[in-house]
Parts: sequence; C-alpha cells; structure tokens
Amino acid sequence: MISDRSDHGTPRVGQVKEVTSLTNPIIKDIRALAQKKHRDETRSFMAEGLKLVIDALDLGWKIKTLVYAKAAKGKPQVEQVAARAVAKGGLVLEVSEKVISTITRRDNPQMVVGIFEQRYQPLKDIRPKDGETYVALDRVRDPGNLGTIIRTADAAGASGVILIGETTDPFSLETVRATMGSVFAMPVARASVEEFIRWQKSVDVQVVATHLSGSVDYRTIDYRSKPVVLLMGNEQAGLPVELAREAGALARIPQSGRADSLNLAMATGIMLFEARRHLLSLDAR
Ligand code: SAM
Repeated sequence: MISDRSDHGTPRVGQVKEVTSLTNPIIKDIRALAQKKHRDETRSFMAEGLKLVIDALDLGWKIKTLVYAKAAKGKPQVEQVAARAVAKGGLVLEVSEKVISTITRRDNPQMVVGIFEQRYQPLKDIRPKDGETYVALDRVRDPGNLGTIIRTADAAGASGVILIGETTDPFSLETVRATMGSVFAMPVARASVEEFIRWQKSVDVQVVATHLSGSVDYRTIDYRSKPVVLLMGNEQAGLPVELAREAGALARIPQSGRADSLNLAMATGIMLFEARRHLLSLDAR
C-alpha cells in the first residue's frame, strides 16, 4: 500500500510504502542480506539506528532503502531522514514492529534501519602521508574483532583498515553492529597477500608487524618517521611467514601471566594507541 502524505517537510505522496507482511518481496530481499552471498550480489548492507543512518548520509553513503517502524512515524528526525533518503533516490518503507524485528533479528529492534551500498577503497588509491596510520589484518575471522578494530582505528585517528586474504565480511550485520557506526567513517580496502606486498613496496611506509615471537618491544619503535602500517595476524594462526618477512622487525607486546596471547582486537588497540600516542591529545576533539 502506498501512503498519501502531504504535510510540509515530509516525504510526498507515493514516496513512503507501508509494509506489514513478511512475505513482501522487498522485505524478503532485505532479510536475505543476512547472507553474505546476497550482500555481495547486491553490494548492500544494513545498518541500524537513526543516529547511524544520519551519520552515514552526512558522510555521503548511498542509501538504497530506509525502513522505519510505524511507532517512529511523525518524529521530526525520522521525517527528515526519510525526506533525505527520498531526495537521494532511496526507497522509504514504513513497517510494522514485527517486520522490523524480523529484519534486524532482534526482540527490541531499533526504530530505523538503513540499507546502504557497500563501499571499499581501492588499495592502489591509498598513498599514506606523514602522520597517517593504517591497520592491515591478515585473514581476520571474527566479526566482533573486525568491528571492534574498525571502531578502535576510527577512535585512534587511523586512516584506514586493509583486509588481507579471506576475511570475515566488514558488511555483515554483526561486524557493522560492533563498529558502532565507524564502518561509515573508516575506509576499508581489501587485498590478496601478493597485492598487499606489492602495494607496500610501492609506497613509503614503515610496516610494523606484530608477532608473539617478535624480538622488538613495541614501545621502543619510532612511529614518527614515516606513515605506519600495523600488520596484525590471524586469530588462530598468527602472521604467515610471507607477510612477517616483509616487515623490518617483528614487534611484541610484553605479557606476563598465563595467557598465551592477547585477543586480536585488544592487541590492535594497544598498537594503534602507541603508534599514534604523539598525535593524540585530550584537547584535539
Ligand atoms: N596462536 C596465534 C599465534 O601463535 O600467533 C595467536 C594469534 S593472536 C590471538 C592474534 C594476533 O594478535 C597476533 O597474530 C598478533 O598480531 C597479535 N598479538 C596478540 N598478542 C600479541 C603480543 N603479545 N604481541 C604482539 N602481537 C600480539
């Protein structure tokens, strides 16, 4: 059913579709975004929450569909975001609570959900400059880790995250949730091991690879002389030899206690804030 809205500043006649049925083909399509195959085919992904959707639009991400719950109807911010989505050529759906909780697979769903076009930064376009830091992740498997790393990289002021090899999908719902919105702020590139090695040789960067058998204390490294690429290993296997040997030295975070290693996202956070320590201050924000 197509609604008829005429109030000022809200989407116009025919621009908001009301949907209450889970078998509606558009809703079926959105539900299919839970599968990576469908996300890849449609180059789409879902992000939940009004603030996130507003931030994404502010940052120029292309919205395909905006979905909001009937209960959010009439809220000025929701009306504004709906009008912005329409202006950008997006579809706007007003749905029942049942539909939005099915889409998001949550009992207490957010009232607003956006379906956006995926965006990767081509690796060849990354030419790191002084003061920039990149995180390169070898075969990261866990969506929570990847999302947390994207969020932490954003918080530390890094310039991008490079995914090497077969990794978990940065646009899965779980990863996007863990980024807390930083997926829209942090450029993500992807590369095979060979592409990464070729790229790294073509740019003037200092690659700091982290390894449990590293001989260099991460606190003794000079992170100021060149742009830095922090190279982090897979959760189970750590860094493979072909990547580890590309780095000048292998850095280690000293540990005590019984734990064999740190969680990947935790280790990345420690490295990021050390590498950018000289650039971060409480007055910067
Ligand atoms: N079993 C794996 C191994 O032997 O390397 C453990 C990998 S660890 C969970 C995942 C990644 O986090 C590592 O490859 C490394 O990049 C980083 N990491 C974890 N603890 C670290 C430490 N103490 N020093 C340096 N890097 C560390």
